[in-house]
Amino acid sequence: MDILVCIKQVPGTSNVEVDPVTGVLKRDGVESKLNPYDLYALEQAFALKELYGGMVRTVTMGPPQAKAAVMESVYMGADSGVVISDRKFAGADVLATSYTLAQGLQSRGRFDVILCGKQTTDGDTAQVGPEIAEHLGLPHVTNVTSILKEKDGRLTVRCMQDGLIVTQTVRTPCLLCVDGAVNTPRLPSYRRKKQFVGQTIEFLSLAEMQDRDEQHYGLSGSPTQVVRIFPPEKNDTKEMWKDKEPVLAQKLFDLLKSRKAL
Ligand SMILES: Cc1cc2nc3c(=O)[nH]c(=O)nc-3n(C[C@H](O)[C@H](O)[C@H](O)COP(=O)(O)OP(=O)(O)OC[C@H]3O[C@@H](n4cnc5c(N)ncnc54)[C@H](O)[C@@H]3O)c2cc1C
Repeated sequence: MDILVCIKQVPGTSNVEVDPVTGVLKRDGVESKLNPYDLYALEQAFALKELYGGMVRTVTMGPPQAKAAVMESVYMGADSGVVISDRKFAGADVLATSYTLAQGLQSRGRFDVILCGKQTTDGDTAQVGPEIAEHLGLPHVTNVTSILKEKDGRLTVRCMQDGLIVTQTVRTPCLLCVDGAVNTPRLPSYRRKKQFVGQTIEFLSLAEMQDRDEQHYGLSGSPTQVVRIFPPEKNDTKEMWKDKEPVLAQKLFDLLKSRKAL
């Protein structure tokens, strides 16, 4: 089974600054890590490869330093990976990001399944996977907790939908968004690090896309405009109440009611 896994490099800290003019995260020089939810998708891909054979290839879209995410996936067990990177892709919203990824993914040739994480820990929209599927005309399932079997070009998957566990079949090729905490992702292997350090990672730019119209990418291809983005204000104000229990209970009740919490 040939599997493509979408992985994203995200800030490794919650202490990220936002450019006050453009409203874009300042990612330069910020410690980065692989999006935690993508680790579950990767582990699911390795499990499928162990069962059915085939290849696991990873795809990331981001600045050149996103290569580190691809290298990490290779150290974990991916056969290869590609970085989709071009200044023309900068400032992409979800629509432009998913379109760019769809273009990059379809340039990879034949595949059976695209796996995505449930969501990222920075953008956090959980929309990229389903939008990629729409761009590529593929069926997709979200919140997948396990892939039970493959038979006659169809996968039986279990997913969590509105608090219910649903088992359904989906024909391949398809896209699956893997839920969080559904397996225990493996660590990068020291042996693979030694084996693949210095491995050449392929980069894809606009010139390699089937659609080379700049208007479909980056800021130009993004209908969403960020008006303002800011970290939530910290509210450290405290109030101490020192009364007898019935008075305290009444005070608490009144406060919760005034805040419409009751
Ligand atoms: C107007 C606007 C401008 C923006 N400008 C920028 C900018 O300049 N620079 C910037 O970095 N971000 C920018 N963003 C944020 C960017 O659009 C999102 O980070 C991106 O769309 C991914 O969405 P998400 O993080 O919510 O992914 P989700 O939908 O939460 O991710 C779900 C899954 O999709 C896959 N996935 C998501 N993103 C990627 C990726 N890049 N590569 C591979 N797989 C992926 C992963 O498997 C992930 O688990 C901008 C957003 C807006 C609205």
